[in-house]
Amino acid sequence: MKRLFNFFILFFFCNVSMAETGAEHATAMYFNSIKNNPEKLSVFLQAMPKGGDLHNHLGGVSWAENMLVYAKQDDLCINIKNFSAKSRPNCQKQYRVAQIQKFPILYNQVIDAWSMRNFQPGKESGHDHFFATFEKYLPILFKHRREMVNEAVERACRENILYLELMIMPDDNQSGLLGRHIAWDNHLDRLREKLLKSGVAAIVSNISKQFDIYQRSLLTFLNGPGKQQCPDFKLRYLYQALREQPPAQVFAQLLTGFELASRDPRVVGINLVQAEDGPISMRDYHLQMQMIGFLHHLYPRVKISLHAGELVPDLVPRSGLRFHIREAVEIAHAHRIGHGVAILYEDKARQLLQEMAKKQILVETNLSSNAAILNVKGQQHPILLYREYHVPIALSTDDEGVLRTDLTEQFKTAVVNYHFSYGVLKQLVRNSIDYSFLPGASFWQDNHYQHPVSVCRSSLNNSQLSASCQHFLASSEKADLQWKLEQQLSYFEQQFLHKKKG
Ligand SMILES: [Zn+2]
Repeated sequence: MKRLFNFFILFFFCNVSMAETGAEHATAMYFNSIKNNPEKLSVFLQAMPKGGDLHNHLGGVSWAENMLVYAKQDDLCINIKNFSAKSRPNCQKQYRVAQIQKFPILYNQVIDAWSMRNFQPGKESGHDHFFATFEKYLPILFKHRREMVNEAVERACRENILYLELMIMPDDNQSGLLGRHIAWDNHLDRLREKLLKSGVAAIVSNISKQFDIYQRSLLTFLNGPGKQQCPDFKLRYLYQALREQPPAQVFAQLLTGFELASRDPRVVGINLVQAEDGPISMRDYHLQMQMIGFLHHLYPRVKISLHAGELVPDLVPRSGLRFHIREAVEIAHAHRIGHGVAILYEDKARQLLQEMAKKQILVETNLSSNAAILNVKGQQHPILLYREYHVPIALSTDDEGVLRTDLTEQFKTAVVNYHFSYGVLKQLVRNSIDYSFLPGASFWQDNHYQHPVSVCRSSLNNSQLSASCQHFLASSEKADLQWKLEQQLSYFEQQFLHKKKG
């Protein structure tokens, strides 16, 4: 019996040493000693490599102060009634953005109107204030995507983020306008043929040219004097379609997105944006899922992430809460779900959670966004429910400029509200690359992240890449970035080996 006991002890320690290095253990110990100290926790999480931000809208990425700098270049004018910015030839001097810093009251009113700063729910809800911001600065977004991409990447680098999947619509919805001139046809293959003959290819090609411009600008920006260096950083895009449009327009946009992602490797998938509770989105939700399911069948390599279940009972009738996540998974074949807050109102929620775990559908969890827009926070949030059912999750920002947040704050909220350990945080970080839409096989055998693929097994311990592992990494963009993340984590953890507790 004693011999059996000794065997178990030996077995246990062998596994611990395989699963957790000394540096990882030291980091976890340090984390435990500072997790109740908000300042030290912030410093720790800021420095921690955080992998990828998989749910990030370019349209909400820019801080209002920066958008005013962009608007000044265009000599825009502030409409004093709703604080929107537009080009207006007879703009009074005190309302010109170029002069706005001389008028601090107006300046602050604009910052508040274009973001959630100082927002207090009253007549206007957080949801309504948030969704109203985009209209106010639309002309700036249309003209300054290039600068906004730079802004997003610079901030990501400073936060030790390795990868961004930015949701973007560089054609200003030219693709949707194609659908305006074509009558709706229930035969989606016929509708697709008509649209393909009406100029989708030209729009796809123009979008790729836009990406060339952003890429050149980003290289100049990152290599500029005093700028953040992040040589391993990767940027990819999701083409977004607007769900609050008539069906032919939504379909035209989705088709453009699938065509684009098939042709331009910088675009790794598609998403649907705008308020899920909007009248057209609610009316056409099932139809929109059918459109995506149809296109998925034709373009099976294009990845799909869908905002689904970004809903609460205050916003829509109960009948509207019962099926959005399920249809996104089962009809549209979404690989990832954005938000998924309304999971507990879905029909057969338990079965759906099990199905999501089995199919490995990751939920992009946006804690700050859900608190500000849906007023869902703390124990009302289903993040722990998803974890209980082993549905993979990753933390993301949603609209970091409008919400005035960052990924570090999402991690901090997860620690403070849900008491996540360092090990859990590390799992979420690894999820964010493993479930990214980067092409190629994973570096890991499974999502417990204990065992690399066999060709790289010896490399993880030695931090020296074998020739066969190098060959494998060269064949998979995803595995290559995962390896870089492991190096970042290892470097981060080394510093805690000899550090005293906080
Ligand atoms: Zn979103």
